This record gives sequence, structure tokens and C-alpha cells, in this order.
Amino acid sequence: MARIVMKFGGTSVADLDRIRNVAARVKREVAFGNQVAVVVSAMSGVTNQLVKYCTDLSPLHDAREYDAVVATGEQVTAGLTAIALQDIGVDARSWQGWQLPVRTDTAHGKARIQAIEGGELIRRMDAGQVAVVTGFQGVADDNRVTTLGRGGSDTSAVALAAALKADRCDIYTDVDGVYTTDPRIVPRARKLAKIAYEEMLELASVGAKVLQTRSVELAMNERVRVRVLSSFTEAAPDEETGTLVVDEDEIVEKQNVAGVAYSRDEAKITVRRVPDRPGIAATIFGGLATQNVNVDMIVQNISADGTTDMTFTVGKADLPRARTALGELKSQIGYAELLEDPDVAKISVVGTGMRSHAGVASTMFQALADKAINIQVISTSEIKVSVLIAAEYTELAVRALHTAYGLDA
Ligand code: ASP
Ligand code: MG
Repeated sequence: MARIVMKFGGTSVADLDRIRNVAARVKREVAFGNQVAVVVSAMSGVTNQLVKYCTDLSPLHDAREYDAVVATGEQVTAGLTAIALQDIGVDARSWQGWQLPVRTDTAHGKARIQAIEGGELIRRMDAGQVAVVTGFQGVADDNRVTTLGRGGSDTSAVALAAALKADRCDIYTDVDGVYTTDPRIVPRARKLAKIAYEEMLELASVGAKVLQTRSVELAMNERVRVRVLSSFTEAAPDEETGTLVVDEDEIVEKQNVAGVAYSRDEAKITVRRVPDRPGIAATIFGGLATQNVNVDMIVQNISADGTTDMTFTVGKADLPRARTALGELKSQIGYAELLEDPDVAKISVVGTGMRSHAGVASTMFQALADKAINIQVISTSEIKVSVLIAAEYTELAVRALHTAYGLDA
């Protein structure tokens, strides 16, 4: 007997038939003698619609009310999934974030989970009941509903798995695992049987939208075994199904590059002609941090005449707030102008093998050069090289790199 958390994403609960399918999968695990907690997302498209209601009403809306609105999608699917389970004879009840509770900080719209009270769920699971928990939401100390950021129900599932000391966290989605790159762009992409937490973390953070970044971070810290698998295949899952996200030590054959990822979610900002003196970067990025704007890639040039250009990327959704923050700082910093380019893509190659192999970056630059793709910004970490390019070359670049690193099936 195992205790497992089964998480179903938006496409897996997209309509009543899909929810019946989810219930059948849960029943199968229960029939194997497993204890099951289910975490559900909103029906696909619902959260987008709820977000749009908020932004249409007011682009700079109250983040606490945004959370009150967007958290409702998961409430619906949790209730419906419990009904579907009861309907096929499985004892089940739904739980909303505040009912457990799932405690978070007060960063509305991208709150972090601080603790989950799992005692009551464990008692009920011991008594044979399936818990269906709303993903994506929690409650802050001031009793207000929070949400965890887009794609946050993965994080809910991993956090719940940690709190319940589950043997595994199965993330059911519309793909059958983690691929070397997006198969819609590269038909010869390959499914990985295993991927290291760190690789998955880098891939998630650079736009392989299989798992939310924070969920992988949490899984790595709490040592939760995560499996990504499809809710659209009929056969019961076995050892071979899906992709296991595990410790690096469990992976025998390490590739230089495990995968190629892309993201069109960022925008490039250049602050032109800022004075080249101590404290300027602190002022710029401090101002952005105060507005809760996440900054990713940063480059600063050397100065010839006492001023320099500062280029960086922020999430596209954060662009209005970044603009406001930098506008307010204009006189304090004394820069010449602000340039924005939302038509950029970040392409990244990731692999733990990079730690011990030279030449990974130069292979990337050569492959892009061969396709005459211009590189705007470069950044690296121990196991990742990323470049910023014009968005229109995204597919071309991803295909070229997948071939260049010998990843084609
Ligand atoms: N429903 C939320 C979203 O669309 C959370 C999730 O699906 O993970 O972002
Ligand atoms: Mg998701």
C-alpha cells in the first residue's frame, strides 16, 4: 500500500467526461489499496477567463480581489471531482485551501506556501476517504484567499505530498512525460525516462511548461518523487510510464544537454545612458523589487563617457509595473530613455553534464550563427546557457539546437 498524491491539470478536468475519467483513475488506485489525495486545477481556459475579467475591469486591480476571483476555478473542479467519485462509489470530499488550511504568505497573485495542516486528511485517508483538494490556492494570516501564481497547482500537489509524507506525487497532464524539447516544434523530440530535479528546475524556469518552477524547487528540497504522466492514455501506469523527476545520483547516463527550452514570456527593457556610479543598479532593481517585478537576465555595458546602458528582461505581465517603477525613478537616476521590446524569446540549453564538459556554449552560438540568428543577451549558470533572440526565430533556433546537441530521435 502506498500513499499517493494525484494531480490533474486543466486539460485533464476540462469537461464532465474528463472529470469522470479522472474519477475512474482515482478509483483504480484506491482499488490497488492505495491511499489517495487528489489535487485539481481549474477547467482549462477558466483561469485565463477569470484573469481577463480582472484586467478588463482594471489593469491595476487590487491583487487581493484578483485572488478572490481567480481561486474560484479550482473550487468548482474540486467539488465536481468529489461528486464524480461519490457517483462511482468512492468515499470522497472536497477541500478548499482555507479549509485545510494551506497557509501562505501575503504575496497575492504569487503567494508562497508556508505550511499545510495535513493531520485531518491523514486521519480521513486512514479511514478510506479520498481527499480532493483545490490546487493553486491558500489562505494568508489575515484570512484572505491567496493564489500561488499561474500553474501553481503543481506546487500545491508537491507541497501536499510533502505534508502527507506521500510516497509519490503523480502529476497528470496532457503530455506523457518530459521531452528533450517541445514536440510541437520538434517532432523528433524524445521522452526522458528520468530527469534530475536541477535539470527540471532549469527547464521549468525557462519555459518548458510541464511543471511550475516552484513545484520542482519544493520537490527538490523536500525530496518528493514526482512523476509526470498523461491522463489521456488508457493503460494503467507502470514503472515505465511517464518521466520521473529524481535525484541526479539516480541518473546513470548524463547528457551534456538534457533538453532545449524556450520562453516567450519575457520582455526586454533597456535603460539608456544611466550614470556609471555605485548605487545605480541597486536603485533600479530595488525599485523593481518593491513593485514585485521579477528580473531575469541582466547585462550592463562598460561606459566610455560616464554613462552606460542597462538591459534586462522581466515577465511580460510585469511590463506595465516595471515601466511605472522606472518612470518614478527617472529623475533620481537620471537616465536618457527607456526602451521596451516585448518581441523576444529566451532559448536555453540545460544539462548537468555541462559541469564536466567544455564547449557547450560555443556549440550553441555556432548553431545559431549557422542560421544567421542574432544573439541579443547571453546568460549562463552551472548547468544552463540561455540566449535572448528575436521571437520570430524561436522555432528555427530550437530545432537547430536540438539537432546540434544530438538530441533528435
Ligand atoms: N488554474 C491555475 C492556472 O491556470 C493553476 C493551475 O492550473 O496550475 O494557472
Ligand atoms: Mg500546469
